[in-house]
Amino acid sequence: MTRPRTVVIVGGGISGLATAFSLQEKATQAGLPIRCTILESDSSWGGKIVTHRIGDLVTEAGPDSFLSQKQAGLDLCLKLGLADQLINTNETGKKACVLHRGKLHDLPEGLLSFVPKQLGPFLHSGLLSWSGLARMGLEFAVPPGSPRDDESLAAFLSRRFGVQAYERVLEPLMAGIYAGDAEQMSLRATFPRFFELEQQHGSIVRGMMAAKQSVSSTASSRPRRTMFVSLKNGLSELVATLTTRLIQQGVELRVGARVDALRVRSHELGRWMYDLILHDGSALSAESVVLATPAYVSADLLRPLTPIAGGLLDLIPYASTATIAMAFPRTLTSAIGGFGFIIPRTEQRHLIAATWTSLKWPHRAPSDQLLARCYVGGVGREDILQREDQELVATIRAELASLCGITAEPTYTEVNRWWKAMPQYAIGHLGRLEQLDAVVSRYPGLILTGAAYRGVGIPDCIRDGALAAEQVIRSLSGKTHPDRVH
Ligand SMILES: Cc1cc2nc3c(=O)[nH]c(=O)nc-3n(C[C@H](O)[C@H](O)[C@H](O)COP(=O)(O)OP(=O)(O)OC[C@H]3O[C@@H](n4cnc5c(N)ncnc54)[C@H](O)[C@@H]3O)c2cc1C
Repeated sequence: MTRPRTVVIVGGGISGLATAFSLQEKATQAGLPIRCTILESDSSWGGKIVTHRIGDLVTEAGPDSFLSQKQAGLDLCLKLGLADQLINTNETGKKACVLHRGKLHDLPEGLLSFVPKQLGPFLHSGLLSWSGLARMGLEFAVPPGSPRDDESLAAFLSRRFGVQAYERVLEPLMAGIYAGDAEQMSLRATFPRFFELEQQHGSIVRGMMAAKQSVSSTASSRPRRTMFVSLKNGLSELVATLTTRLIQQGVELRVGARVDALRVRSHELGRWMYDLILHDGSALSAESVVLATPAYVSADLLRPLTPIAGGLLDLIPYASTATIAMAFPRTLTSAIGGFGFIIPRTEQRHLIAATWTSLKWPHRAPSDQLLARCYVGGVGREDILQREDQELVATIRAELASLCGITAEPTYTEVNRWWKAMPQYAIGHLGRLEQLDAVVSRYPGLILTGAAYRGVGIPDCIRDGALAAEQVIRSLSGKTHPDRVH
């Protein structure tokens, strides 16, 4: 019988787990026996995916949903038999609000995947002046930028839709996802589709309309999904199902196993072998190592092997954020409406956004309670995370009181701080990734995956994990990756 090839995945967040799942599939297809181990430093699986269940409340400390348009998330749920657990957002009360000059305004309808496709709803929103509206409406006529430029998200959106639409609506919608500063974010790395639409159609709105038409003409029989979907019992359900399946498939899962060092043991006759040194001094060897860890951890592990890769990884900055869950008596609902609100940077508040979780997903709280989830922190606004829980909650409550009149004492409060949690794709990110790929590909079987590189969303991490798995198979089969530069 052929000796199984050894693979170690470092990091048991969604990226590492999805890599292992895809690896099992691909190895079976390729007829390649493998022995896979996942090492996770924490005491539990899932990384940023953490669901808490407190009585009848279900809170998410990290992500609470994922984009359904990016197929990888849904596909994984379906493969794991979670189809009946997938939930859409509540069909009623779908609107959201945006803060403008201290008051909440309805976010205009007709924002097609972030971008305004109709002027009408903006006319009545009171968000833009006449000149701001006119400028936004001229998006069709704005010539495309140079295909070579790596423009910032702020420059791109202001150029195409005007400064008002950018500052008052698009900045909080789009930079907020990354807890980022749009002035520093690379458009091509964060919203590559908008770059492509501009290049192909000369206008984002025209491109989006064309894409929408072609989708509706090929309408499928698949269940209709809202833009964001989740799982009934919280996203940890995905992690629990995934780990159970991996164990059934013979993958070895080890928690409390922090990797402190990575060494090349030998590369004789073209066969590479790596040693991983764990914090307890024990060691493990593998022919292929996937680092599914944050970039700054991967930097420390790679620096002794290749200082250049370590240096490039150090250039990926991270933002710290916090989510604060609060439950209030349900009688307040009438004062709120919609799924929540977003806050532009120019409003200079501590809150970035708030979601009424129990309106979005009614079964996440008992019917007599309103469950809210507030976001703070992000690039340039991280100081607030230094405050004690009590002070932090008091700050948020004061903002909720002034914005939507919530003055009631919360019946439940939970603060989740996420230090260095959101990788930032700064201008030049894609160029640095190319250099990184070129350097790391000199080490056969050594692969980087995770939120730091090609997308921070859960579906992006799952898709990147599948690409990493493909590279492992290629490397173990003696084939190099066609995209990699040697
Ligand atoms: C507050 C917040 C809200 C978010 N909301 C959403 C959302 O609604 N929808 C969405 O799609 N995305 C959201 N995201 C983004 C998404 O959750 C993350 O990008 C994604 O979960 C990252 O997965 P990962 O596996 O790449 O990294 P991680 O989840 O960070 O996993 C990396 C793992 O590596 C482990 N590790 C680190 N060092 C070592 C070591 N030396 N040895 C062994 N293990 C190690 C860590 O303990 C961790 O478990 C959110 C993120 C945050 C922080």
